[in-house]
Formats: sequence, C-alpha cells, structure tokens
Amino acid sequence: MTTTAKGYAALSPTSKLQPFSFERRAPREDDVAISIKYCGVCHSDIHQARDEWGNAAFPMVPGHEIAGVVTAVGANVTKFKAGDHVGVGCFVDSCTTCKTRNVDLEQYMPGLVQTYNSVEADGRTSTQGGYSDSIVVKEGYVLSIPDNLPLDAAAPLLCAGITLYSPLNHWKAGPGKQVAIVGLGGLGHMGVKIAHAMGADVTVLSQTLSKREDGLRLGASHYYATNDASTFEKLAGTFDLIICTVGAAIDWNQYINLLKVDGSMVIVGIPDGAVPPVSAFGLVGARRSLAGSMIGSIKETQEMLDFCGKHDIVSDIEVIRIQDINEAFERVVKSDVRYRFVIDMASLAQ
Ligand code: NAP
Ligand code: ZN
Repeated sequence: MTTTAKGYAALSPTSKLQPFSFERRAPREDDVAISIKYCGVCHSDIHQARDEWGNAAFPMVPGHEIAGVVTAVGANVTKFKAGDHVGVGCFVDSCTTCKTRNVDLEQYMPGLVQTYNSVEADGRTSTQGGYSDSIVVKEGYVLSIPDNLPLDAAAPLLCAGITLYSPLNHWKAGPGKQVAIVGLGGLGHMGVKIAHAMGADVTVLSQTLSKREDGLRLGASHYYATNDASTFEKLAGTFDLIICTVGAAIDWNQYINLLKVDGSMVIVGIPDGAVPPVSAFGLVGARRSLAGSMIGSIKETQEMLDFCGKHDIVSDIEVIRIQDINEAFERVVKSDVRYRFVIDMASLAQ
C-alpha cells in the first residue's frame, strides 16, 4: 500500500514552495522505508526549483541531503534494519546493466535517477525529494550514517560533503599539497574541513574577508579576498589543486593562473549562465588541467561518511522550520548562510 507523504513543493519556477501531499510507493523487497528527520538546503535545490538549468518538472519537492531513520525494510534487504541512521543523497537509482557500473562511477552514467526532478526506471513515476517526511529507496542507494555524527549536521554530507570529498580524493589532496577552495558556502566549507583532515594546506578564496575567522577555524591556513585584485598577483602559480564551488558565472582564467605547473582546477559549482571564454594560454603554458566533478558514487559516498565519522566532521548548520524555506532560499542566494540550512522535518507537523 502506498503512503501519503507530506512535504513542500514548488509548483512552478516562479511560485514559492508550499505544502504538498503525494504518494510514496509501498516498500518492495529490496527497498528501505525511511522517516526523514532532516534535509539540507543545497543551492542546486534553488537552481532546479527556479528552473535555472532547464528541464525542471513540476510539482517539485526538492531535497537531496536526506538524513533519517529506517522504519521498515523489504524481505531481501540485508544491510539495514529499523532504527538505523541512514542518508540518501542526489540519486536513488542508476543503470544496472551498463558495464561501467562495476567501476563505481554510476553518477556519470546515463540512466541515473535523481532523488527529485527525475523519473524512476519505470519511465513514468516522478521522483520527489527530501523536503518531506518519508521516502522509500532501493537498498543499494541508501547510505549508513555513523552513529557518532548528529543527524542534523550530517545531512549536508550527502551532497555538499561528497561533492568536495570526491575531487579532493581523486586529485590526491594530502600532505604537501596546496589546495584552494573558491567560495565559502555550503560546499566550500565542507571542502575546507575535508581537505584539512586529509592533511593538505588549505587556502580559502572568498569574495571578501568577512568570513575569514570562520575559514581559519574550519581548517584553512590562508584566506584571501577575490575582490582585491592583488590576490591574483600574490598567489600566481601557488596551488596544486583549486576547487571552484561558485554557482555564478565568474572568470575562471584568473584562477587557472593561480595553479602551479601540472596543477588542476576542478569545477563543482554550476553557473546559471555562461562563463567568460577560457584562454588556452593559461592551460598550455603550464600543463594545467581544467576539470569538472559531480557528487560521487555510492561506494565513495559511504567512504566519505566513514571518513567524516572517523574525523568527527559534520556541517556547520542553521536549523530551520520548513515554513521558513522560502526565506532560506533568498538568504542562500545572497550568500547569507553559515554554512548550510537544514530543515527540521518535525516542523511539518506544525
Ligand atoms: P552556496 O552555499 O550558495 O555557496 C556558493 C558560494 O559561492 C557562496 O557562499 C559565495 O562564497 C560564492 N559566490 C556566490 N556568488 C558569487 C559570485 N557572484 N562571485 C563569486 N563568488 C560567489 O552554494 P552551494 O550549495 O555550496 O552550491 C554551490 C554550487 O555548486 C551551486 O551552483 C550548486 O548547484 C553546485 N553544486 C554542484 C554539485 C556537483 O556535484 N558538482 C553538487 C552540489 C552543488 P563567498 O561568500 O565565500 O565568496
Ligand atoms: Zn546538492
């Protein structure tokens, strides 16, 4: 039997989020039913609810930083039981026949089913996300949240955490590496914490110095303002790895020039408009790479959660009621959040 879930949805790109009821499927034999306790507010939720990337489908219940408690499991589920602390990130299914599935890069394969704003493998059923009180997800897409991490502050690990962990891991941030994080927002502040825990020397490149103390507390050793042109002269040729989390169309050329020979700049922020053309000179003159990265596989997401459990890493959060979600969206857009809003789903009952 399906259950009626309560949540908040955008009904169009211009409407505010509002209360919305919808059906969740009855758990199948490989499903885990989850009571959602908290859900982080990612800037991607705003991009999609406002149709800034195109292809948005409405009504849309956003939310892909889901933390909750298992309420029931299907007969074939072996990894989870009722009462377990679990998370769900940006996708809930993927192509299982594709041979590349075996290399644990399912986030890059066609057939990925996103947690919301997507259609399930049946080709019909719209997925709906975590700004709601419950969700039913295949066991293989459910993550285990270490017991020492509080569920509210762990929720943002499911997107912000893995989105930074994956490139830091892939491009081998660690002792002796100079790593810069561009933008100290939801993604950026997780990047500072994780890169520091990996042993890298971390620099924050923020628009202003207003969050400098926070940046240093989170684990950065250096902090520079990008509204000061001298920053780009002082830091030329400094970094092994730059991760850009900015979701606005900034000039990447300035940052590419801050890389050492063989350095890499990895784009994780997804601008809502075209960025200025990238000059070949900045890349070819120092064998530099410009790359992109998107979230992480289920295997790597679990590895990230275990790493965060071991190092006691969670997000710095401001817990909100779901009734305040529209104001929270406005504040994220204005970079007025330190450093992730997390919705307390108990507020849905109010
Ligand atoms: P966020 O909390 O809004 O943080 C973005 C930060 O970028 C801001 O805090 C701000 O930092 C900086 N910034 C904003 N506007 C800027 C501008 N005009 N010029 C320069 N810097 C600016 O957003 P988020 O949730 O971290 O997400 C960031 C981006 O990543 C979004 O585009 C989101 O859709 C995308 N994303 C990508 C993935 C992926 O898998 N690749 C996953 C999740 C999210 P300062 O105040 O420090 O300058
Ligand atoms: Zn996200």
